[in-house]
Amino acid sequence: MNKTIPIVNAKAPSGVSTAIEGDGMGCHAGGEKMLAAAKASGKSEVLAQYAKDYPLDPKAGPHDQPQSMCPAFGSLRVGLRMRRTATILSGSACCVYGLTFTSHFYGAKRSVGYVPFNSESLVTGKLFEDIREAVYKEADPANYDAIVIINLCVPTASGVPLQLLPKDINGVRIIGIDVPGFGVPTHAEAKDVLAGAMLKFAREEVLAGPVQAPRTGRSDKPTVTLIGEMFPADPVIIGRMLEPMGLAAGPVVPTREWRELYAALDCAVVGAIHPFYTASIREFEAAGRPIVGSAPVGHDGTEAWLQAIGNAANVPQAQIDMVKNIMLPAIKAGLARMPIKGRITLSGYEGSELLVARLLVESGADLRYVGTACPRTVWSEPDCQWLEAHGVHVQYRASLEQDLAAMHEWQPDLAIGTTPVVQAAKELSIPGLYFTNLISARPLMGPAGAGSLAQVINAAIGNKSRFDEMKAFFGNAGTGHATGVWDSAQGIPQDRPEFKAETRRLLEKQAKKRKAEAMI
Ligand code: SF4
Repeated sequence: MNKTIPIVNAKAPSGVSTAIEGDGMGCHAGGEKMLAAAKASGKSEVLAQYAKDYPLDPKAGPHDQPQSMCPAFGSLRVGLRMRRTATILSGSACCVYGLTFTSHFYGAKRSVGYVPFNSESLVTGKLFEDIREAVYKEADPANYDAIVIINLCVPTASGVPLQLLPKDINGVRIIGIDVPGFGVPTHAEAKDVLAGAMLKFAREEVLAGPVQAPRTGRSDKPTVTLIGEMFPADPVIIGRMLEPMGLAAGPVVPTREWRELYAALDCAVVGAIHPFYTASIREFEAAGRPIVGSAPVGHDGTEAWLQAIGNAANVPQAQIDMVKNIMLPAIKAGLARMPIKGRITLSGYEGSELLVARLLVESGADLRYVGTACPRTVWSEPDCQWLEAHGVHVQYRASLEQDLAAMHEWQPDLAIGTTPVVQAAKELSIPGLYFTNLISARPLMGPAGAGSLAQVINAAIGNKSRFDEMKAFFGNAGTGHATGVWDSAQGIPQDRPEFKAETRRLLEKQAKKRKAEAMI
């Protein structure tokens, strides 16, 4: 007997979607689709604020987007580095796997919380209940000052309303933030999303009444809060430069502890060392604190920064000059002792690229291009103007394609950049250095920064001959269509342009068919 089960087209009632908004979407779904889903799910306000804080060119195509790792890593990292803070992710398992892997790769010694979901819990609102339950379970004031809960792409696109969580459970602050890849362009800016949210919370607490003093007590001098993750010695060096002006280095934002947020707000001046912390700066401005851009890098940068900080903190000019007279000759001597010789292109996504670029130029490097994934802000304007006056092309929101084009054009002796840039450089026998691991992990400020880059850079430039030798030895083996290791007895793959053309034609045909079907 024929037992065929009939397949009947089940049409959804008109106006009712059988798909779950945001479900099945990810990095691959395309920003526009997710953005539209998120807006339809009640996230318009937060996304409009992100569009203002972290602007992209409205005409930007997919290749104009900076290509950095999953942006949420920035927020996750800020949460994981704070004492007495639990960080919980709400997102697709694949995203959470990647994020936890990366955070532990970068040395997080803490657990990452995760509230899993499936299509049903997402569409019925059960996910929000699960998050609420998880937050209540974790909120033990003996262990935590704060719990951070981060909505990744799919829960944001689906409108999971973290803003409805209680602000405080048993005295533990609850900070819910949306950090979707389609709303926050880089992981650098995602650090600001969390730092800004925490500063806002802390500022409201200050307005409401007395708050905890810093662990080491309040400074007896007016302080300068420093914005941006930097090499641990840098705030110490900045503190030494500020001391003769009657000032002290305050906390570094993102802070490492909740009570440091109050001390950060309690400053005389804010140094926006990393210039992309727009939401954090908004909180300092609301607290009436003056903001100074750029940083004390190299001779000219230190000179201008000390002057600007001194002016903002009402330090008498004679005292500012006294500090300059001690620091500037020491910096000049340091730069002259360790010169950098060679042409360089530089790119990265940390937000400190322009500062490193200034130091390279003052060290004597022939720098032609600096690309940063971060946006243009007023706080990096002095650096941009200084670099352009020294003949360097500055590219904000740089894409990988722009970074690579600069390298091809300038044929540098050294390419400093992100992983794909360094990989491409090495293929061309150009020495390359990773910005994040090898350059931004060094002191940059004041006298300690002068000459700190020369050793690693000159050593890398000196390795050029090794690349040439390797290239001569390997020739074109294992490149292009013959990539891989092949035994000539069994045949080396042949290039088949006609097969490629046919495959391309078939794929285009399929894409057209899919599009036509979608329109029906
Ligand atoms: S959360 Fe990150 S990894 Fe996941 S879809 Fe969004 S951008 Fe991609």
